[in-house]
Amino acid sequence: METGSYNPFQTAQSQFDKVASLLDLDEGIRDLLRQPMREYQFTIPVHMDDGKVKVFKGFRVQHNDARGPAKGGIRFHPMETIDTVRALAMWMTWKCSVVDIPLGGGKGGVVCDPHHLSMREQEQICRGWVRQIAKNLGPVTDVPAPDVMTNGQHMLWMLDEYETIHSGRYPGFITGKPVGMGGSLGRTEATGFGVVYVLREALKEMGLSPTQVTASVQGFGNVARYAVQLFLQLGGTVVAIACWDQADKTACTYRKKGGIDLDDLRAISDKFGGIDKKQARERGYEVLPGSAWLEQDVDILLPAALENQINRENVKTISQKVKVIVEGANGPTTPDADEIIKQRGIYVLPDFLANAGGVTCSYFEQVQSNANYFWEKDKVLSKLDAKMTAAFAAVSELARKQKLTMRDAAYVIAVDRVAQAVRQRGWA
Ligand code: NAD
Repeated sequence: METGSYNPFQTAQSQFDKVASLLDLDEGIRDLLRQPMREYQFTIPVHMDDGKVKVFKGFRVQHNDARGPAKGGIRFHPMETIDTVRALAMWMTWKCSVVDIPLGGGKGGVVCDPHHLSMREQEQICRGWVRQIAKNLGPVTDVPAPDVMTNGQHMLWMLDEYETIHSGRYPGFITGKPVGMGGSLGRTEATGFGVVYVLREALKEMGLSPTQVTASVQGFGNVARYAVQLFLQLGGTVVAIACWDQADKTACTYRKKGGIDLDDLRAISDKFGGIDKKQARERGYEVLPGSAWLEQDVDILLPAALENQINRENVKTISQKVKVIVEGANGPTTPDADEIIKQRGIYVLPDFLANAGGVTCSYFEQVQSNANYFWEKDKVLSKLDAKMTAAFAAVSELARKQKLTMRDAAYVIAVDRVAQAVRQRGWA
């Protein structure tokens, strides 16, 4: 969310400007790509449970659809702003492009706090959001998905409203649906597994086997759990995991000699990704401050919790032993910390490549929904592996050839593909 003077859209634009210069893009293409193609801002009146009418503000931004229908989530958040949505839509364009799926970038939102809304009120917001822009969305136009504080139930209400308006069944209109109601098997694992597919490829290039390396992880939610699961399956060791402790309102790091046991920690965690401190101690875990995950003597750091977690203040606490940072979270590293990490020669797998497994699997959901034929989980995961591995290989090759960081190389590939699509369509 936009906080204080930080404006995510300005950040997204300045990142784009840097890549546009590296690619020496024409003025017209720069102008087109540094802003969204379309934006919708609208009101959603809702009859609240107390009998009053409350008006909510809704957004949808389609940043660019030259490579395919716009794709991106819908957030419910009290601090949502149009600039946040613009930035997220632009980042979606680059994320879909870097993994080479035929989709553009979009994002949406509603200014609201679901904690203070009944299920009926949330349903009315979902239906109202769709009613306002139903003619500008659709399986071949713009495909929404869940994001912060929205889930499969919200997606089904939106689907139902869309199908009622358009008199038909259009399961490919939206993704993030529950399995059995148009959702894809493998979506739960997709982001975390995708993180480890690219990490596995990076280790291969470095001549390291997962059995030789150790990792420290921030987060124990959807992304982190499945990333840890696959990393352990490959033979790696996870020394420490940090997560948020809801009772104490602080973050803690859980460390165990010889490495953590995933089943053990799963058994004592809650659905928000918090770990029970008392039971962890009983099972032999040391409970350290929240910052300790970053200071471990490990080969790999995996931030998979929040943005801005590796910053100017704490970047110096990263151990000399660290060789790889794989960004599972969105934006976990601030630009100034990124610069220091670069000088230290640590290899970074950037967020929009490393965590693109989620949107790739959403694309698979859309394909399956449009065909009304659903794949086995093994098929979903092997296709995901193939996509992530190919994306890594392309970025790594360019980074090597042009002596770029992996982040810059990923941006160059992503922006260049969109620029080519825009050019070939004759838009600019
Ligand atoms: P989640 O809500 O399931 O889990 C978040 C985890 O972070 C929890 O374990 C929580 O305890 C921990 N956490 C929160 N604050 C913390 C703090 N201060 N210190 C340490 N740990 C803290 O979220 P998720 O779906 O796993 O997403 C994690 C990140 O990955 C986010 O940045 C998200 O945007 C990004 N991401 C997620 C997906 C996806 O498919 N879920 C896809 C792409 C990117």
